[in-house]
Amino acid sequence: MPPELFLSGLSPEELLDVLSPLPAFRANQIFKWISGGVSSFDDMTDLSLSLRRELSGRFGIYSSTVDGRFGDASDSGNAEKISLRLRDGAMVEAVLLSDGFSGRKTACLSTQAGCPAGCVFCKTGSLGFLRNLDSSEIVEQFFYLKAIAGGGIDNIVVMGMGEPLLNLGELRRALRVITHKKGLNFSKRRITVSTCGIAEGIRDLADKGPGVRLALSLCTAREDLRLRLMPLARQNPLPRLKDALSYHQKKNGQRITLEAVLLGNVNTTREDAAALVSFVRGLDAVVNLIPWNPVEGLSFEGKPLREPGEKEIKDFEKNLENGGVKFTRRRRKGGEVGGACGQLGSLGGGAKKEEFL
Ligand code: SF4
Repeated sequence: MPPELFLSGLSPEELLDVLSPLPAFRANQIFKWISGGVSSFDDMTDLSLSLRRELSGRFGIYSSTVDGRFGDASDSGNAEKISLRLRDGAMVEAVLLSDGFSGRKTACLSTQAGCPAGCVFCKTGSLGFLRNLDSSEIVEQFFYLKAIAGGGIDNIVVMGMGEPLLNLGELRRALRVITHKKGLNFSKRRITVSTCGIAEGIRDLADKGPGVRLALSLCTAREDLRLRLMPLARQNPLPRLKDALSYHQKKNGQRITLEAVLLGNVNTTREDAAALVSFVRGLDAVVNLIPWNPVEGLSFEGKPLREPGEKEIKDFEKNLENGGVKFTRRRRKGGEVGGACGQLGSLGGGAKKEEFL
């Protein structure tokens, strides 16, 4: 019979519970092996053969398998997207981004199969929502990408499929494993969680940690337009969101990233720039401009979405500059493999539409 419990997403404290009556040092040994990328009890050479056999009979380590791997190279770097098959057959995707200039490697992780948020510019949002991932399914994406990277990953962004703050409990457990000092000890300062704007979740993160960086996918600071582009904006109006961001910033003192996906002829007007300038006021924030990555079939109010032109972007940047806003423009990576921002799920994913909001 296949195992029902998988150990990859468990902290040493949780392992101790599950492995009872094994002593704490055994749980720590096993945690260390798993954190080092070992996916079979046979390779845990400091455990006796009989213990390895017993563990193999009771538990699995990884609950998912890699189903496909897709690469894309450009001047600005490489992207490798993997698709993972979960134990119930659901599919999720994760991406390894390598910066061509700095050489830094970033793992982009998913937290849900599909997404209930339904942002109109996002492929994942168009798939509907299947289910939340559990801790092991999130951690395993990191392990697989780490193996592809040949060991070193510099940053983690939780910006893949799904809205992380709607699955905060399992995300917290996964980050606890990845940042645990008995294992990978990955720095929390090098992890960014990106939300489409769940005010309550932002406050929860501020109150209970785990002290990672925060990015808000704002898209536009014009409330009327945001409501039409991002359905979750209805429950999370901009003043509420800004209050939550200020609260978060007061608690952990970190600069916040505001992401603005630029949609050609939709949210790049002078009015949009002015609204963004006013939203940023009072926050220590940097705006990350993300020219929309094309996804076939996505439209807004009857018109197909399109990439913004270079002049359109430049004019928008000029307006931000005049308003004193700090901003960067994200270089495109991963577009060829459908691994760029907003493109995940282009392999399908088996997600079913489900009424959520
Ligand atoms: S942008 Fe993020 S939150 Fe919005 S639909 Fe896509 S995955 Fe979900």
